[in-house]
Amino acid sequence: MKVLLVGAGLSGAVIGRKLAEAGHEVTVVERRSHVGGNCHTERDPETGVMVHVYGPHIFHTDDAEVWDYVNGFETFMPFKNRVKTTSQGQVFSLPINLHTINQFYGKTMRPDEAKAFIETQADTTITDPQTFEEQAQRLVGNDLYEAFFKGYTIKQWGIQPSELPASILKRLPVRFNYDDNYFFHKYQGMPENGYTAMIERILDHDGITVHLNTEFDRDAAAGFDHVFYSGPLDGYFDFELGRLGYRTLDFEKFNFEGDYQGCAVMNYGEVDVPYTRITEHKHFSPWESHEGSVCYREFSRDCGPDDIPYYPIRQVKEKALLAEYIKRAEETRGVTFVGRLGTYRYLDMDVTIREALDTADVFLAQGKQTPAFVISPL
Ligand code: FAD
Ligand code: UDP
Repeated sequence: MKVLLVGAGLSGAVIGRKLAEAGHEVTVVERRSHVGGNCHTERDPETGVMVHVYGPHIFHTDDAEVWDYVNGFETFMPFKNRVKTTSQGQVFSLPINLHTINQFYGKTMRPDEAKAFIETQADTTITDPQTFEEQAQRLVGNDLYEAFFKGYTIKQWGIQPSELPASILKRLPVRFNYDDNYFFHKYQGMPENGYTAMIERILDHDGITVHLNTEFDRDAAAGFDHVFYSGPLDGYFDFELGRLGYRTLDFEKFNFEGDYQGCAVMNYGEVDVPYTRITEHKHFSPWESHEGSVCYREFSRDCGPDDIPYYPIRQVKEKALLAEYIKRAEETRGVTFVGRLGTYRYLDMDVTIREALDTADVFLAQGKQTPAFVISPL
């Protein structure tokens, strides 16, 4: 069959590859001048540093099949994300661990002592935390919440933590040992030559044709048996019902001679520092050596019509609009909506790949009967 894929990010590339390997004729249209979607990496011409153009990406997963898949297309180098945060005039280790707790309180507690101590700080009257603020106060108490989460979260999301769901904080652990690895997944690493090189290789198959700088046109879909659309769900319908809310990011680039901050990611916990974090990209490739350095200050704000959508907001209002778009999508024949934009969800790369592989399997079994959503956006 002739299949059209909209978007050459991970979703488009992984689905395209699997369908091409099964003998289908795959065309990919991508509006940007490069493949890779938001995972795109390129070398900074001045310093030679591999830069994560749309924000830092660290690969982490427990899914052995997905780990084997990415290693089939690129060598993954060992990389552990060890995030620091600046707050109240000091640098602390994240996620909150025994070092953070001992430093913050000026103590030398052992794990069980720290656990008991944090329980005295935590608000134990909260039995079923609903909001981000309640979750933080139940987990670590007000002092640590104010120092590390409150200001950062206001900057990141533009609203009070009392208006955000608890689920956002549930992504972060609190550890009563000195493990400062930001992620707890079994497999973690960084592609030796960047994500774009990996995604170019995924797309490198005789059955796949990629058209860059090409905007999807609904009329052009008529010549295909099926479409997989990884662009924004509301964009497919020309935003007719309104826009699904996103946060966008502004990256303020600066170069530095030498080592600017000594780590890849430095968060800023306080609200009066206008940016959320500074990333220094050469530290994402610790096996390379560069004199010069490229850093980005990262600012978060509401996404306008001309901005890049990064984080779906998914509050009550957005979910109601999402439900309306889902209805429209389910009435549309011959199109399957995929990926982080097509299903309006925050998706890590490993989840994106897992869903793309599963979606391709459904198409191989059901062909044109493949539904609008293989994975529910709700
Ligand atoms: P995208 O990468 O967005 O690809 C969609 C593609 O479709 C884009 O290239 C776009 O240009 C194209 N497109 C859209 N509309 C059209 C159209 N109408 N016509 C033609 N082309 C179109 N995940 C991790 O696992 N680890 C991390 O550390 C991590 N860090 C992240 C940091 C940030 C700031 C963000 C926002 C995300 C991060 N992620 C991370 C998630 C990761 O970016 C996603 O998993 C991944 O990008 C999803 O791939 P996708 O193909 O679904 O979407
Ligand atoms: N967060 C915070 N302080 C930090 C890091 C994270 O308050 O120093 C909050 C913030 O609200 C963020 C959430 O925890 O959205 C989840 O953190 P994660 O690092 O997973 O953020 P993301 O990858 O979504 O940027």
